[in-house]
Amino acid sequence: MADHDLADHGPGPDPIQAPDHVRPKLAVWKFASCDGCQLTLLNCEDELIPLAGAVEIAYFPEATRSVVEGPYDVSLVEGSITTASDAERIREVRRMSRRLITIGACATSGGIQALRNFADVAEYRSVVYAHPEYVETLDRSTPISDHVSVDFELRGCPINSSQLLEVLAAFVQDRSPRIPSYSVCVECKRRGAVCVAVAHGTPCLGPVTQAGCGALCPAYSRGCYGCFGPQDTPNTQSLADRLRVLGMDESQAMRIFRTFNAGAEPFRAESERQQSERHGHTKEGAR
Ligand code: SF4
Ligand code: SF4
Repeated sequence: MADHDLADHGPGPDPIQAPDHVRPKLAVWKFASCDGCQLTLLNCEDELIPLAGAVEIAYFPEATRSVVEGPYDVSLVEGSITTASDAERIREVRRMSRRLITIGACATSGGIQALRNFADVAEYRSVVYAHPEYVETLDRSTPISDHVSVDFELRGCPINSSQLLEVLAAFVQDRSPRIPSYSVCVECKRRGAVCVAVAHGTPCLGPVTQAGCGALCPAYSRGCYGCFGPQDTPNTQSLADRLRVLGMDESQAMRIFRTFNAGAEPFRAESERQQSERHGHTKEGAR
């Protein structure tokens, strides 16, 4: 059994079927991303054939070259906005889509590429590329919801396949998706995993991270990395204080909030608080 099968995602996805048996048109779009979330859809295997029977896969370049013209009933959008042409294209996608669902950390919070938001992009570009003059990019990587209205944000890096199928079924059937917004700790305790923070003093972002992975890392005695982004009401300051008690300095505490969801507001704010505390200490040390 795959690890994600052990996750608790609430009731399983309903069979994907529109009430009047008309096949809605599905489109899948890519912006700045690694394609991992689109691969989650392709990896659905057992569910993919029923899915293809329930919806018309009208635009999905990762899966097929055939294209059915829009408008589309449901658009899945992977990736963040990092160029001016991205910002223009997402508005066009929104115009063509009755429902627009963003999938993954890139699309919902700016992704790992949002690390640029804390740095000098021109400097990064000059270090990374042999010919930076040919690279056109925005200063910041931003989530899709900063640019257009979004009907639902599905978190994760990558997303969870059961959650994706539940969201698709919900939108095809015109109902609300049943996706939990509580923390990874709830999944962790339901799974019966030993708390790595309590038992071993291992730093873990589970208390502030949204459920969805089935507490995969804690089940293998590792702390949570926050792949699913902030849960509904995260107390990041309290967790950061605890991380400091466990031995992290401000720099380490800053970095733990700056990974896949660095641009998500509570994680961004906490990392900047740690950064300013570090600068305060550095100045005090220099006096
Ligand atoms: S959220 Fe993660 S898995 Fe999905 S496209 Fe972005 S980097 Fe890849
Ligand atoms: S190991 Fe992490 S996710 Fe699990 S209960 Fe402890 S703090 Fe929460």
